[in-house]
Amino acid sequence: MASQLAYTPVEEIPKIHAELLSTFKSGKTKPIAYRKEQLAQLIYMIKDNEDRFFETLKADLGRPNFESEMLDTSITMSEAKYAYDNVEKWAKPERTPWDFNWFAMKPTIRKEPKGVVLLISPFNFPLFLGLAHMAGAIAAGNTVVLKPSELTPATAQLLAELFPKYLDPECYRLVNGDVPVVSKLLELPWNHILYTGNGRVAKIVLTAAAKTLSPVTTELGGKSPVIIDPRCDMKLAARRILWGKFSNAGQLCVAPDYALVPRAAQDAFLDACQEVYKSFYPVDPSSSDSFSRIVSEAHTKRIKRYIDETKGKVVVGGQADVEKRYIAPTIVKDVPLDDSLMEDEIFGPVLPVVPVNDVDEAIEFINSKDHPLALYIFSQDSSFKAKVANNTESGSVIANDVDIHVGTTDLPFGGTGPSGSGYLTGKYSFDTFTHLRGTLDNPWWVDAILLKGRYPPYTAAKTRT
Ligand code: NAD
Repeated sequence: MASQLAYTPVEEIPKIHAELLSTFKSGKTKPIAYRKEQLAQLIYMIKDNEDRFFETLKADLGRPNFESEMLDTSITMSEAKYAYDNVEKWAKPERTPWDFNWFAMKPTIRKEPKGVVLLISPFNFPLFLGLAHMAGAIAAGNTVVLKPSELTPATAQLLAELFPKYLDPECYRLVNGDVPVVSKLLELPWNHILYTGNGRVAKIVLTAAAKTLSPVTTELGGKSPVIIDPRCDMKLAARRILWGKFSNAGQLCVAPDYALVPRAAQDAFLDACQEVYKSFYPVDPSSSDSFSRIVSEAHTKRIKRYIDETKGKVVVGGQADVEKRYIAPTIVKDVPLDDSLMEDEIFGPVLPVVPVNDVDEAIEFINSKDHPLALYIFSQDSSFKAKVANNTESGSVIANDVDIHVGTTDLPFGGTGPSGSGYLTGKYSFDTFTHLRGTLDNPWWVDAILLKGRYPPYTAAKTRT
């Protein structure tokens, strides 16, 4: 399989933008029937080529087909199908609630496409984070440029081949490349930019967008904590947390980053983790068909450094092979709050277990850091769950599971503060790429009843002072 990625020539980019703008102005993307046809094409693009995507995702991320199906192809097709099934309803004009002062004017919200949209996506889920979000932009009636990550070259190249075969090239274009290509894209005015990736690059995107007044949604990451109630079902907690931590080798924006466990319960939690670990990887994970690789050598080195420098004790895993982009699924205990593993988002298959005195210390620590994208609580006690949820801030707060909220129908997905701004998936994606255009139509007779007093002269009878 060719993994050489052909970058889009930088000088083509303004032309692509101009073509998409001209198509948008022609009104081609506005009819609902047209949007649905293109959403169907997007689904066929994945369905007809699913095995090829499995191959490219394996080449790019060493990812098991099962994970690619569960976390990339299936979920993307479901998202596009949901948009296909609901776009008529979402796009319908909405009347404002009845109000005596305004009802005669029929105040109405028109759902209009924003225009030409740019999606910049990351490497970890090239289909879901590119095409599923694109489905929202198509459903909303926009023309779209999608820029996949250059770190997944095989998948990006396959997308470049398939885009013009399945989607209307007058409306939807794929642009491939790295920093110079993104920089050129960002010189242009967009009616909306969705950037999914890390906070450092988000600042570059937002700074560039400020120059063209392009609105931006940012879907970012951060360290998503888990709080363990010592009375919870440890086996269940371990199984769900390790699944979320080791899927895609931990390269999930919502992966549980670290676990805060009361000191006295650390051993019980680790015993449960070790048991689950053996059941997940009965053979050495380096030869398991159920475990992915890290996207690049640079990222492998970064994660290896966290393990090399930790002051905690590696309980299981810990091996790394930079050339093979392999980091073993790893659990580290007795990790201090100021450890190498606690500096940045790990974005790899390493779970630091951080002992704390109690839930209050856990909450205090979380509140001393950036608001995370997700916060997980494992507890059967509703007052424990309420205490954590009510005294912290995060993009989402999830009890007794991890990751799955991203695929939950009509649950808004997004960060807060440094973990991002704006909401995606389902109707929230449609809304992100939709302009709510307020309109009303004031009949002549309203002047006779309600509004006659507004016209000059402002006589003493009209004014109160
Ligand atoms: P990445 O390296 O693939 O970069 C993302 C995009 O930014 C790419 O398209 C890349 O070309 C572009 N880019 C990189 N450097 C740039 C620069 N200097 N100037 C302009 N553009 C540049 O992926 P990443 O950012 O490392 O992705 C991982 C991060 O994304 C993690 O923090 C993760 O939590 C976050 N993430 C968030 C979500 C979400 O939905 N909230 C989803 C996935 C990943």
